[in-house]
Amino acid sequence: MKVTDLPGCPPLREYEQIVGKEAIAELEELAGRLEDVRFQEINSTRLGGGVAEILSSYVPFLNELGIATEWTVMEADPPFFEVTKTLHNFLQGRNGFSPEMIEVYWETLRRNEGLIRDDFDVITVHDPQPLGLIEHLPRDALEEKRLIWRCHIHLETLALDQLNDIGPIMKKLVEKYHAGIFSSFQYLPFWSVPSFIIPPFIDPLSEKNRDLPPEEVQATMEKYGIDPEKPLVTQVSRFDVFKDPVGVVEAFKRVRQRIPCQLALVGGRACDDPECYCVLRNVRAAAAENPDIHILDLPPDSYREVNALQRASAVIVQKSIKEGFGLTVAEGLWKGRPVVAGNVGGIPLQVTDGWNGYLITTIQQTADKILHLLRHPDRADEMGQRGRGHVLEHFLLTRGVRDHLRVADQLVHGRIVSRESVVCYHPRILTDGVRYL
Ligand code: UDP
Repeated sequence: MKVTDLPGCPPLREYEQIVGKEAIAELEELAGRLEDVRFQEINSTRLGGGVAEILSSYVPFLNELGIATEWTVMEADPPFFEVTKTLHNFLQGRNGFSPEMIEVYWETLRRNEGLIRDDFDVITVHDPQPLGLIEHLPRDALEEKRLIWRCHIHLETLALDQLNDIGPIMKKLVEKYHAGIFSSFQYLPFWSVPSFIIPPFIDPLSEKNRDLPPEEVQATMEKYGIDPEKPLVTQVSRFDVFKDPVGVVEAFKRVRQRIPCQLALVGGRACDDPECYCVLRNVRAAAAENPDIHILDLPPDSYREVNALQRASAVIVQKSIKEGFGLTVAEGLWKGRPVVAGNVGGIPLQVTDGWNGYLITTIQQTADKILHLLRHPDRADEMGQRGRGHVLEHFLLTRGVRDHLRVADQLVHGRIVSRESVVCYHPRILTDGVRYL
């Protein structure tokens, strides 16, 4: 289904004020090279989760640059999402996927046959849900078009080689693509597909991230019964075990014994995530009606409210156990807040321990770091400012679009890339975290 309700994109000149003339000029030049190329983005959900968040800004931005781009969402029912959520967890290293589920997967993929349309030239397929669409593409279309598989998840690549059924199926499918994009080197599978390492990004002018009037921030706190006099600690995440919301509640309780403060767990549901109801129940049980814990189950399009709650926070937490990238980390840093986050996946690219936040593993570490930041608000502000600068330099939409256009330009106009090649536009940040800073 074609997505038709996208917000308009702010004029490029507004982005220029944030990222500078040079960055926009480079984008315009690349767009000029690709002006006759039509882009299609395919994923499995219009709202909820990081991919939908990225595409909501990325697609209007490409159109604003003059590149005709369409976003298409596959059609699927709850049983398919049960299967793909299990697959997602499995690829992140948790057991539960059974080979019988493969049939449910293919049945839905057959229903979506024809989603990759004739009138597009560069098609990016996001995550494992629509990965198999390539199987239905006629050979001549496969030769004429350029197909990219973009993987946003924390792939346990070592486990992948041992996954009896899934590993080989995914390998076979991914190797049909002209390129793969991965968020970090650590997720690169040993597959024969030209690979590009590109971290995700946030849109500084989206409703989620743009500056808000202080009155709106206050009104949002009031609406959700958050006391403006007590410092607020916030985690924004789907209710997912890998985001460890129960661990956040436990850490918060330890902090609360030492200092008055409140916790907001801002969650929500993605239609491709059937497990969230169960996790939400466990979170409610752990919070046990504690008046300082606000569990906010918001609709997935509550962009300005999430923005306001992040801005109202003294500390942002992202206590993930697995995390492809963690847009919520970049969102918190962009708002000048220090982030206490799990030392996993793409998070260490964004947070340098002790510089713009803290990297943690255990509940006790989480509690200690939150307490430290609440007790030293000046230090917390300093860290937050460094975090904003770091996001400005590395994790904004303009950089993400530039990288993606470079990949497209390479595939459309460049030399044929070796199937074993790995291209990385940001080797320092991606190989070395941000330690070089
Ligand atoms: N998000 C939201 N409301 C929620 C939960 C999450 O708007 O209740 C947004 C969050 O602000 C971020 C995205 O969804 O933009 C989540 O992306 P992330 O990479 O952090 O995690 P994912 O859900 O993709 O695993």
